[in-house]
Order: sequence, then C-alpha cells, then structure tokens
Amino acid sequence: MEIIVAKSAGFCFGVDRAVKYVYDNIDQKPLYTYGPIIHNPHVVNDIKDKGVIAINDTEEFDHVPKGTVIIRSHGVGEKVYDSITEKGFSIIDATCPYVKKIHHIVNDYSKKGDTIVIVGDSNHPEVIGIKGWSNLDTIIIQNIEDAKKFNVSKKKTICVVAQTTFNYIKFQEIIEILRSKGYDVVIKETICSATQKRQKEAIELSSEVDTMIVIGGRHSSNTQKLYQLCKNQCDNTYHVETIEDLELLVLRSDEKIGITAGASTPKNIIQEVITHVRSTERN
Ligand code: SF4
Repeated sequence: MEIIVAKSAGFCFGVDRAVKYVYDNIDQKPLYTYGPIIHNPHVVNDIKDKGVIAINDTEEFDHVPKGTVIIRSHGVGEKVYDSITEKGFSIIDATCPYVKKIHHIVNDYSKKGDTIVIVGDSNHPEVIGIKGWSNLDTIIIQNIEDAKKFNVSKKKTICVVAQTTFNYIKFQEIIEILRSKGYDVVIKETICSATQKRQKEAIELSSEVDTMIVIGGRHSSNTQKLYQLCKNQCDNTYHVETIEDLELLVLRSDEKIGITAGASTPKNIIQEVITHVRSTERN
C-alpha cells in the first residue's frame, strides 16, 4: 500500500492563528468564542472542557458574566463588534487577515454606492460576516444558476468578492456570466491562496490514486468542497471526521491511497488516520 498525504492538508494560517489565540488566553476567564472557534468537534470539545464557552448570538451576552470574546477566523459583521463592546465585553479579534481584507473592500465600495455581490454560500458565517460590512443591500450569488438569473440596474458598478474558500474555477465561470450580461464589473480576487493550493493539490492527488480520503468536520464547508472535487476525480473518495468513520472501509494492500484534510483539521487527527490506514495493511 502506498499512502500519499497532500502537503497542504490540515490547519491553514488563519485557523492555526485563531486556535492559538484561544489556547494563549485560556486562563483569562470568562472566555467566550463567537460561534465554535473552528468546524472541528475535537478542538471545540477540548476548549469547552477547558472552560471556554461558545456564544452563538449577541443576545446571549445579556445572560452571561462579562469577559473576553474571541472572534473566530470567519469574522463577523460590524454590528456584532458594536454589540459586544456596548454590552461591556472585550474582544480579541482572530478574524483571518484575508477575510478582514474583504470586509474593507465591501465597506469601501458600498460607501461609494457600488452594488456589492458576494459569491459564496449565503448561510456560511464568513459570508454573513462580509455582508455585515456593506452599507447597502448585498446580493449573494451561490452558483451558476444564480449568476444566470442575476438582474440589477446597469447604471451602477458591481463590485464582486468571493468567499475565501469558494471554488476558483466556478468563480471564474460566474464572473464570465456577469461580464457577458454587460455589467461594469470590478472583480476582487479574494479566494484565499491556501484554499486554491489545497484544492489544486487535492484534484491532482485524487486523479492518481485508487482511494482518496478527505478528513474534516461534517460542517466544514472547505472540507465538503474538497470532498466534491476529489469525488469528481476518484469514485472511491471518502469524507471522514475521525478514524471511527474508517472502520468499515476495506483497503487492498496494493492500493494507492491519497489523503488530504480541510483547513480546520488538526495534525493529530491526520496522523491518526494515516496510522489507521497503515494498520489495515497488516490485516
Ligand atoms: S482558508 Fe484562507 S482565508 Fe480562510 S482562514 Fe484559512 S488562511 Fe484565512
């Protein structure tokens, strides 16, 4: 059996930084995170056991003791910062600088009166946060169909940003559709390079292996996208959260196995999966 692990598998810079902020401040109680710090139950449960409380709505701050709130790498809208501060809590801002850059773009262009278009998943916290920096109504394009249906006034310039983890190829297709409709479009390339690299490597790896394993939280959007990209190349692609998900998987000793992992997957889980896959070889 040959196991090839993608070089880009696991924590990205922004997630690594956010998790580090939590552990660096773990003694500063009460300590809150605004939403689960990352989409990984292993890490979320560990910090919960250490007394960190995840808050999911600003109204919850009315019912808990004053303390420090860590904003996760996905970022939040401007009103959330204002609300937390007004309620007397202090903030440690772990918003990824790449996401912060999008907040500035959206804020600046919406102040100019341009139409803001966010290409991404409307339910994703990062997209909700980005939307919260626009002074005007914002349009979210989730897919090609939305782009085809897109119809707003052509008098205004359209500023287009993307969720940092959006599929790069699909983003280009959406841009082409908007351009073909004759809009004056300002494109901001905001897909994170770490995401592009991870996706590109996953596509290459999955196209040359017999079985592909994608590790990451069930709710992690970037892991789901990685899984889909790999599945397009390799039919035997599996999305696993922990080694328990691999129990039923039967791997042949002559197989070539590829492994990648989403941006919120800790190194120890990747290592556990590698060890488990290797152990199946002897059975
Ligand atoms: S994927 Fe990119 S933008 Fe998102 S947190 Fe990681 S480094 Fe930041």
